Amino acid sequence: MKKQISLTIILLLSAKIAFCWGFYGHGKINEIAVYLLPPEMMVLYKPNSSFLQEHATDPDKRRYAIKEEGCRHYIDLDHYGEYPFDSLPRQWKKAVEKFSEDTLTAHGIVPWHIQTMLFRLTKAFEQKDFSSIMKNSAEIGHYMADAHVPLHTSSNHNGQKTNQKGIHGFWESRVPELLAEKEYDFFIGKAMYITDPAAFVWERVLESAHAVDSVLTMEKELSQATAENRKFAFEERNGLMVRQYAAEFTIAYNNRLNNMVERRMRQSIFAVASLWYTAWVNAGQPNLKSLTAQSFSSESIATFEQLNQSWLQGKPMLGREE
Ligand SMILES: [Zn+2]
Repeated sequence: MKKQISLTIILLLSAKIAFCWGFYGHGKINEIAVYLLPPEMMVLYKPNSSFLQEHATDPDKRRYAIKEEGCRHYIDLDHYGEYPFDSLPRQWKKAVEKFSEDTLTAHGIVPWHIQTMLFRLTKAFEQKDFSSIMKNSAEIGHYMADAHVPLHTSSNHNGQKTNQKGIHGFWESRVPELLAEKEYDFFIGKAMYITDPAAFVWERVLESAHAVDSVLTMEKELSQATAENRKFAFEERNGLMVRQYAAEFTIAYNNRLNNMVERRMRQSIFAVASLWYTAWVNAGQPNLKSLTAQSFSSESIATFEQLNQSWLQGKPMLGREE
């Protein structure tokens, strides 16, 4: 009976917590990105590392509050033909002229939204606005990390078109949650100044799109070679027994992918730190030491709390199911 209740709770929770990269992954990416920064930035980012981790999933929570949020997390590139999707102009204005804003929004806008976020973060540095720097840093980290996930660039985002439902969370949550702490190498070097952010973001998105086929095919092949009762198993998660992709199956998938999840996670960390650094440089490298004594205004704290409540109580206003 007790087990049944626990199971119900965890199933409800997992329906609710449909975060891209999961709580764990997004938090980890922002956390490690701090270590890639130069000392002039580290002085502010290090003491606020737990904020950056905790608020890495705010954009996903916002999907419960406003309907415009959903499309900022992905782009269904296959809607625009085949790799490298030359029919889609990379510039927002040209893309709108060709396809209309409604169409672009319907199929996801992540590469453009990252550029909007970079603009906001740069402004925040120029104004030396502590709350805005932290909030926009945490959130650009989220969108950039999403753009590194292959299935965030495909309309078959949860394997629903190829009878592989669940693969979304399998790739971006189950694999890193099982392996990252023990096996991933998070020694990544230093953040880089990005001279052409638009080109940089599109390159990352196209890398993701290029990997979609492997992500799907390798899971399919492995599933065909594995009995159902070895693919899924009741295993412990946060002290509860849950039915999930079996550890053995997860490791086998990771091996077939030749550690793709780790590579994308490392690249996400590098990209996030580089975006933070680029915004700071473009704002004229303001002295951040003077901001270290600041804390969040009661107004910002109230906004965070509101966001949390709408997530806890609401239903996601997703353009689609994640
Ligand atoms: Zn997301």
